Amino acid sequence: MSFTLHGLAISGGIAIGQAHLISQATLEVSHLVIAPRMVEKEVARFETALVRVRNELDAMKSSLEKSPADMHAFIDLHRMILEDPELSEIPKQIIRERRCNAEWAIVQQMELLVEQFERIDDTYLRERSYDVRQAVERVVRELSEHPDHVAGKMKSLKGENLIVVAHDLSPADVMAFRDQNFASFVTDVGGATSHTAILARGMGIPAVLGLHNARQLIRDKETLIVDGTRGVVIVNPDRRILEEYELRKSQFEIEKSKLKLLKTARATTLDKVKIDLLANIEGPEDVEEVLECGADGVGLFRTEFIFLGRGDMPSEDEQFEAYRKTVKGMEGRPITIRTFDLGNDKQLHVDDTIEDRRRENPALGLRSIRLSLAEPKTFQAQLRAILRVSKLGKVKILVPMFSHAFQVDQTLAALEQAKSSLRGEKIPFDENIEIGGMIEVPAAALAIGIFLRRLDFLSIGTNDLIQYTLAIDRTDEQVANLYDPQHPAVLMLLSHIISSAEKAGIPVSMCGEMAGDPNFTRLLLGMGLRQLSMFPAQIPAVKQRIKQSDISEIEPVVRRIVRLEESAKIQEQIDRLNAWPH
Ligand code: PEP
Ligand code: MG
Repeated sequence: MSFTLHGLAISGGIAIGQAHLISQATLEVSHLVIAPRMVEKEVARFETALVRVRNELDAMKSSLEKSPADMHAFIDLHRMILEDPELSEIPKQIIRERRCNAEWAIVQQMELLVEQFERIDDTYLRERSYDVRQAVERVVRELSEHPDHVAGKMKSLKGENLIVVAHDLSPADVMAFRDQNFASFVTDVGGATSHTAILARGMGIPAVLGLHNARQLIRDKETLIVDGTRGVVIVNPDRRILEEYELRKSQFEIEKSKLKLLKTARATTLDKVKIDLLANIEGPEDVEEVLECGADGVGLFRTEFIFLGRGDMPSEDEQFEAYRKTVKGMEGRPITIRTFDLGNDKQLHVDDTIEDRRRENPALGLRSIRLSLAEPKTFQAQLRAILRVSKLGKVKILVPMFSHAFQVDQTLAALEQAKSSLRGEKIPFDENIEIGGMIEVPAAALAIGIFLRRLDFLSIGTNDLIQYTLAIDRTDEQVANLYDPQHPAVLMLLSHIISSAEKAGIPVSMCGEMAGDPNFTRLLLGMGLRQLSMFPAQIPAVKQRIKQSDISEIEPVVRRIVRLEESAKIQEQIDRLNAWPH
């Protein structure tokens, strides 16, 4: 049966392929149908994994003889959970009845139990759902360490025609399957500027998030069409629809390759104003694409992505190596390295579920520079690593999420400390390295003087700035409709930041998603921005728009737009601005 689902259009383009269902608990869990003769072997694999986990828990308990009683209670609880027939017997039935792999069977059963727990009106019992999850994750880990025939098959899957269908994907999950070349992904939850969405855009693959029930309604191996531009997923399309989308897909690809011809063209307006187009990257492996798109440099290196999901902090040398490769690859072009923006939806630990993080209100918590200042050793390691590469190219430091003057002062002191330790060790670095701050908290935008007086440059992070200005969680699809870069309050803040920086003679750029959307290019040029940083794949379309724009004509219109308070009027004026045939 064919049906259509609607969600948030995250990353443009069309993908046509087979659904590949991913479980919520861990990415290692795929849904696989196994041959009838393999069913009993799969049941035995499940039983062995359970025995191994129980033995592991026993061994853990005896090695912790002198540790606190609650640690023992915790181990006993996991053991008890795994002995319950709900988890030790029912998954075997599921394997036999549905002919599926063991990982899938236990996770299905776990999700059912967790759902029941979460409906209980008792906080203590409700919280036991975490223990169930953790106990099951032990089994899943054990199963994936002994993959046998089933998981072996998973590894041989070719990504090109597979469309990942998941309830939710953390940025760490997306990073984990980046190398597998999936054609697209769709999820039930997630907002348009969540880091999961940002990664999809960076990978240049179509994606639709916020589909609500996709994982329940879609079955493994069903044919899907993902229209990432319109936010539509068509399940089991008929021949006619399929042909129509195949045609659209090739038209889209032709358009894309036409834009690529702009690679060597300069991003100069009709009235000869040169605009710097920089790239946002997540690691050294992005450099090739950056050069291919003709970027002038890297405007935002989101360093935290290199180490996402690995469970511990990287050493100074590991970081140095990653930064060195990037700087070398950029062949003398400028690179702005942002210090870790960890916390919120970006965690080093893969097993922190998104639900956990939401409950703790993490966007307002100990994230970004707040976390770096709270962990001075880690911060020093990163600052030293960046300073060490500063001798190898044009490197700048960018610090996320400043809100208070003392944070800047402490950061500058930490940088001084890192410099003096390197001097002591006679390690060379650029003594005049520039340090800038991201403006992504409304307080920082309003009290911009604090930052203009202390820093060498600013970069506007519209993703967070909009999240905090409009009080909407950027990872929550339920409020995605309220995410509005054209809101009069957002435009007022942007215009205030840019004009204040201009008066102070401090360079300001923009590296949030707004910078890569050609629909906002003229608006931003009219506000006075001359440096935009975006995903490499977005550069050609923005460059094309710049080449068709005349700043002297745009400026007076934008001055009027930022004074408007009615959204409909703002929309109308921006549409008119974009329609101009310059
Ligand atoms: C932003 O907030 O706009 C930004 C560029 O940073 P990130 O998306 O990594 O939070
Ligand atoms: Mg941000």
